[in-house]
Amino acid sequence: MTRDDCLARDAADPLAPLRGQFDLPPGVIYLDGNSLGARPRAALARAQNVIAREWGIDLIKSWNTAGWFELPRRLGDRLAPLIGAAAGEVVVTDSTSVNLFKALAGALHVQAAHAERKVIVTERSNFPTDIYMAQGLSGWLERGYQVRLVDRVEDIADAVGPDTAVLMLTHVNYRTGYQHDMAALSALARERGAVTVWDLAHSAGAVPVALARDGADFAVGCTYKYLNGGPGAPAFIWVPRRHQAQFVQPLSGWWGHAAPFDMAPHFAPCDGIGRALCGTQPIVSLAMVECGLDVFAQTDMAAIRAKSLALTSLFIDLVETRCAGHPLELVTPREPARRGSQVSFTHPHGFAVMQALIGRGVIGDYREPAIMRFGFTPLYTSFADVWDAVAILKDILDREDYDVAARRGVVT
Ligand SMILES: *Cc1c(COP(=O)(O)O)cnc(C)c1O
Repeated sequence: MTRDDCLARDAADPLAPLRGQFDLPPGVIYLDGNSLGARPRAALARAQNVIAREWGIDLIKSWNTAGWFELPRRLGDRLAPLIGAAAGEVVVTDSTSVNLFKALAGALHVQAAHAERKVIVTERSNFPTDIYMAQGLSGWLERGYQVRLVDRVEDIADAVGPDTAVLMLTHVNYRTGYQHDMAALSALARERGAVTVWDLAHSAGAVPVALARDGADFAVGCTYKYLNGGPGAPAFIWVPRRHQAQFVQPLSGWWGHAAPFDMAPHFAPCDGIGRALCGTQPIVSLAMVECGLDVFAQTDMAAIRAKSLALTSLFIDLVETRCAGHPLELVTPREPARRGSQVSFTHPHGFAVMQALIGRGVIGDYREPAIMRFGFTPLYTSFADVWDAVAILKDILDREDYDVAARRGVVT
């Protein structure tokens, strides 16, 4: 494999033209789209339009004339095909943390008839906010709910038993990039009487997801990672039609009401996915989500997955061959089916090495313990980017050109 081989792969890549729809600064190889997606070029004009025309000129009329009130549902319908959901089952709203709270509360409510089911099972290696939200909700309810943390994937089956209300899993692990078998684990939970809540933060727009086909019960996910919705862009929540009538969540704000402008003094949830909404949404941020979805509408998840696996496999091969002899250890599964769209390597000086990479324009990130994380986003990452990133990594390691005393910012 040479750099010319990589250029040849780029020339043959059907997704290569989509890179032109993103604005990336020159000299940067951006391998952090799993944390904050790059900016779709169209986002600037869209923001200009929302701020100058919809807000500036049309003012409050825009709730009707610009479709602001419908935006969470409309975006949900556009996002649904990416996750194997139907129209009318997804809304884009609130943060992933808040949507987890609502999905978990709704899942516990669906299980409320089974008084003996008091446990939410999840993984210790889950993203902390998922665990924290489960702990917060179960403590607040004061009905004896507990959170059970599982240490190994092989132990999940044993942890889901007659006391289990909910199995809450993140489909692709944020640290290792390990991808769960959604169909098998959803089936296992169902056989044992538990319902599943899936977090798709590192899956939506990264790997094909088939929520309905795989028998999932509820799901949430992020739009500012692989979906390129912008920093802090609203997240999404999926409640399939078969659960919507029983889905009750405690953040019963007026946007989830059957007739919000009746201004009635009692809450009555609307039919359908709207009951997952709470209150007024950040319209400027929400509008940006559509610019990311517009790019996905020009391709499909099968093409994205094929290129994602090609990129991650190439990166693993090149690091292992060209940086052999350095203490790098792959923590991402080699088996393609078990891999998301990121590759993580540990290095004893992982933080310092990542800082050196960032200093030379290769932007990945660092997660405790000792993990250098590289996200691969097929919409705008090229095979030549992979080659160049590994060449820079090799140079940094060969020359030990990193500062082990590198200072940490608030965000790593
Ligand atoms: C990124 C991520 C989140 C983020 O939650 P916020 O509410 O947006 O801060 C939650 N869960 C997982 C698994 C994530 O990867």
